[in-house]
Amino acid sequence: MERFGLPDKLLRRGARRWGHGLSCEYIADRLRCLAPNLCGCRIVVAHLGSGASLSAMRDGRSVDTTMSFSALDGLPMGTRCGTLDPGAILFLLRDGLNADRIDDLLYKQSGLLGISGVSNDVRALLASDCPLAAEAIEFFVYRVIREIGSLTALLGGLDGLDFTAGIGENSPLIRQRICEGLAWLGVSIDPDANQRGNGCMSPEGHTPSVWVIPTDE
Ligand code: AMP
Repeated sequence: MERFGLPDKLLRRGARRWGHGLSCEYIADRLRCLAPNLCGCRIVVAHLGSGASLSAMRDGRSVDTTMSFSALDGLPMGTRCGTLDPGAILFLLRDGLNADRIDDLLYKQSGLLGISGVSNDVRALLASDCPLAAEAIEFFVYRVIREIGSLTALLGGLDGLDFTAGIGENSPLIRQRICEGLAWLGVSIDPDANQRGNGCMSPEGHTPSVWVIPTDE
């Protein structure tokens, strides 16, 4: 859906969702080779890196994504805020911040870095004993689970889930926590396969199947 809930004339002037399926086409190609039975299926690609987005794919094509007008929307990222109530921008403006400062805040001082005050890097957050570092990770996992649920509703079900990019490819712990939160959808992964983190992680023949496929943006 390209529309925001704004007056229609603003849609035609460009205030609309554009969609940024970061590495989707490559992943769709790889899945076609690795799992031909997933062709025509309903797949969510979780691109979790310093930029992060989810894409819902049907028949190998992206049908929706968490990013929209800019690269700020959707999941919280290394330093970007992710989905925000527009009322918060009005609050910041009225609080005296100008557009440039808000731009810097939303793109460079928010997300994992902003919440934790420690780092934008998941490795540093997992190694930290600062409570806000744990909270940043918890918030990230919560948002991913919530948005996968939303895209699954849009697709009308989930046949496959793919993790990719720096966090998605390299953090068994984050994958495990996300998959635990999706158990209600039937998501299940083999702990050893999750530790290996390459290829299929779900039990053979299980739907939804869960994958780690390195991206090639
Ligand atoms: P990318 O933008 O795809 O290069 O991803 C970069 C991010 O991936 C880094 O900022 C880290 O947060 C994350 N990352 C890379 N390696 C690991 C790892 N071994 N464990 C957890 N996160 C990692």
